[in-house]
Amino acid sequence: SIMPASLSAISNGARHGILFKGGVHLENLSHLRAIAFDKTGTLTKGKPEVTDVLVKDHLSVEDVLLTTASIESHSNHPLAVAIVKYTKESLDRPLIQPESIEDIAGFGVKAHYHHDIWKIGKADFVGRSEAEAFLNGAAKKLANEGKTVVYIQKNDEVVGVIALKDVVREETKKAIDILKKRGIYTIMLTGDSESTAQAIATESHVDAYVAECLPERKVEELKKLKEKFSQVAMVGDGVNDAPALATANVGIAMGDGSGVALETADIVLMKNDLPRIAEAIKLSDRMNRIIK
Ligand code: ADP
Ligand code: MG
Repeated sequence: SIMPASLSAISNGARHGILFKGGVHLENLSHLRAIAFDKTGTLTKGKPEVTDVLVKDHLSVEDVLLTTASIESHSNHPLAVAIVKYTKESLDRPLIQPESIEDIAGFGVKAHYHHDIWKIGKADFVGRSEAEAFLNGAAKKLANEGKTVVYIQKNDEVVGVIALKDVVREETKKAIDILKKRGIYTIMLTGDSESTAQAIATESHVDAYVAECLPERKVEELKKLKEKFSQVAMVGDGVNDAPALATANVGIAMGDGSGVALETADIVLMKNDLPRIAEAIKLSDRMNRIIK
């Protein structure tokens, strides 16, 4: 009968740090043909650190950093948290309250600050051509190193950039290689820029990537993958990933992910351990053999 096999497989999974919210998800893993991964917090550790701060010559690095951190302290985006932490550690100056603040998901933060309007976020948020022209394309070089570049705009001028590096998890490459060996197509979906995405995708060994992905775009990509591969999983950790997790045949959340991701997912990796996906698939193979 079906119950004992799937129940024992589920409890076997739990012993290995994989939580299944029902036998059907465990059964479906066997049939997966493609898996989509979020970047930040999934393939990478999700704890970016500031590596470079560049500002235009006529401004002081300290002033720009202080204003940026003061504004970012109102956002809970991992990049914002890292910028605030770095500023507090490197400057001995208190943050200043902006007059108003607007957090725009997937883009950045906008604030009124001392009669100026500041925008802090990705290239499209501050104007792509201005961003690319900043210090003769300095940002491009940073992005090619896999760093995420945050642009700082004061009124209509891009006055600085902050680069942050988030490290790829040690076990990511191995986990992806095992899945690929099984013939599963692997793809990374990220809101980050083209150059950064390319660098992290190469380091992670995924077959493909889509950069500049807003949350609704992640859902679109999942739908396309389902048409092409029929059985598709999504692995993610963020609030932004929840719609894509729900769209996939199997949604897999990282255990340290946000509450919404954990609630939406069908399977939770309790130790954030990506190689357990391959283990879970093996468990599924075994269980399906027993049922048949
Ligand atoms: P990801 O999918 O890489 O986790 P998000 O969808 O959260 O990224 O955001 C996409 C991009 O928007 C980020 O890579 C960053 O460039 C920019 N961004 C979003 N929020 C902020 C913020 N608070 N500060 C700076 N940049 C931000
Ligand atoms: Mg993420």
